[in-house]
Amino acid sequence: MANPVILSVDDDPAVSRAVARDLRRRYGDRYRVVRANAGPEALEALREIKLRGEQVALLLADYRMPEMTGIEFLEAAMDLFPAARRVLLTAYADTGAAIDAINLVDLDHYLLKPWHPPEEKLYPVVDSLLDAWSASPIAAATEIRVVGHRWSAESFAIRDFLARNLVPYRWLLVDDPEGARLLAAAGVTEADVPLVVTGDGKTLVAPAEAELAGLIGLNVTPTADFYDLIVVGGGPAGLGAAVYGASEGLRTVLVERLATGGQAGQSSRIENYLGFPDGVSGAQLTDRARRQALKFGAELLSTREVVGLDEAGSARVLRFSDGQCLAAHSVVLATGVSYRMLAAPGLDDFTGRGVFYGSAASEAPSCVGADVYIVGGANSAGQAAVYFSRYAQRVHLLIRGADLTASMSQYLIEQLGRIEQVIVHPHTEVAAAAGDEHLQRLTLRDTRTGEQRDVDTSWLFVFIGAEPRTGWLDGTVVRDQRGFVVTGPDLVTGGRRPPGWSLPRDPYHLEASLPGVFAAGDVRAASVKRVASAVGEGAMAVSLVHRYLEAQ
Ligand SMILES: Cc1cc2nc3c(=O)[nH]c(=O)nc-3n(C[C@H](O)[C@H](O)[C@H](O)COP(=O)(O)OP(=O)(O)OC[C@H]3O[C@@H](n4cnc5c(N)ncnc54)[C@H](O)[C@@H]3O)c2cc1C
Repeated sequence: MANPVILSVDDDPAVSRAVARDLRRRYGDRYRVVRANAGPEALEALREIKLRGEQVALLLADYRMPEMTGIEFLEAAMDLFPAARRVLLTAYADTGAAIDAINLVDLDHYLLKPWHPPEEKLYPVVDSLLDAWSASPIAAATEIRVVGHRWSAESFAIRDFLARNLVPYRWLLVDDPEGARLLAAAGVTEADVPLVVTGDGKTLVAPAEAELAGLIGLNVTPTADFYDLIVVGGGPAGLGAAVYGASEGLRTVLVERLATGGQAGQSSRIENYLGFPDGVSGAQLTDRARRQALKFGAELLSTREVVGLDEAGSARVLRFSDGQCLAAHSVVLATGVSYRMLAAPGLDDFTGRGVFYGSAASEAPSCVGADVYIVGGANSAGQAAVYFSRYAQRVHLLIRGADLTASMSQYLIEQLGRIEQVIVHPHTEVAAAAGDEHLQRLTLRDTRTGEQRDVDTSWLFVFIGAEPRTGWLDGTVVRDQRGFVVTGPDLVTGGRRPPGWSLPRDPYHLEASLPGVFAAGDVRAASVKRVASAVGEGAMAVSLVHRYLEAQ
């Protein structure tokens, strides 16, 4: 397999040569160093690299170039290689531009020219960026190909899993000539798909998520059987707890049933998270948080679902769905919420075959030119409408209320108002779904008049609120009527502590009714359902874990 590429672009030929020379000297044995003298030339080189199926690990671009600035180049390059690390080369006077670029192109670093000696100023930066890139699933997944049926829920599950874990792949239909060739080479038939083929030729037929996770370099097995802290759930709250737990010296493991990022990972653009004035995609925020947690030494386990929590003396023991157990002094529950299912005749038959819960971003390129229907009036539905409008011919937003003002942020309402292809249908609900092999038709009902009409579509995305899936905590910690975990002062009613509470103090602020078990983020009763508050509660839970451990 070809070495991954480091590409540098600078319009000053002497500087361009010097950068390439310094990079080759240190990284030439493991990376292919490519240099260009202008943005368009560099983009052309990237397109060729893409076509050859090679990877790009790092891009270094000079800021001041005549045809295309470094920021413009990096922005265009992101479409081709979103996972490549990005560095802007600037003169001292351009640092303002570099700071802008941090927001615009999610810049990883800016380097002031000249950087001599490279041992001090260039290599430490490049070393850490290449380490981060090599540790990402993307590096492990060079040219993964998935062969499957267009409308197969199993094939969708695999593509969704890879997309949520930020792993690039090529999707081939069984009747595509290359798809057929891969099936033949793997010795399987159309009936056996989905088939996953790695860059180095390993094949997996209809793999389970844990198998797939192993293949793309995600950790599924803990290295110890006892920790200071187990975090359950890898959304913003869980990742926040893992970063703070590990950075403050706790042996920390995070257990995630699917892919880190949680709901936030599915957001195409989070506009209101502090420090990102131009917004940040959920995928980028997740990637950064993962790297940060790993850097501090937290273990992150994927595809491991927790199904039970038991008390064993001072230890807290979690059970996985495969029967294995993991114990710790303390636990942070950060399991968030999951989308509620839409109830209408016929819908269940098409889940993953035209009906999707959440944004299912992996499907967007297939919606080109189509009419897409989205159910929901909150921010998540609004963000999805903006995102799908880049692909679909028309995006129909179905809401029960008269307008969006009660449930959606004003900035998003205004954004939707500016997009011609988005049509809001007030007082409208889905009454039924029909189709053959996949969704082909929806029946819509006017909620005021009861009048019904049929529309032809193959795409329905549902965002109708969410509920915590906390049934597995039955009998262990107190939950409210809707299943959210009750914590802190809310557990003390009329001066009485919760039943079974064994300590001579009230529960700490985020502590559940079992001492040493804390809840953070959306799963906690009365929490604010936002990324910032989830991260904040994750951090705060860790400080309470310290207080709990000190008193033990
Ligand atoms: C599409 C979308 C857009 C959004 N946009 C914004 C926005 O712009 N701004 C904003 O502030 N908020 C936004 N939100 C809300 C925000 O994402 C949530 O408030 C936030 O993600 C909550 O974080 P959390 O960690 O508490 O839970 P979650 O993000 O729900 O993460 C929980 C994690 O726990 C895992 N898990 C659950 N049960 C188990 C189990 N038993 N074992 C192991 N793992 C388990 C899940 O797989 C999941 O990964 C958006 C939400 C959505 C869906």
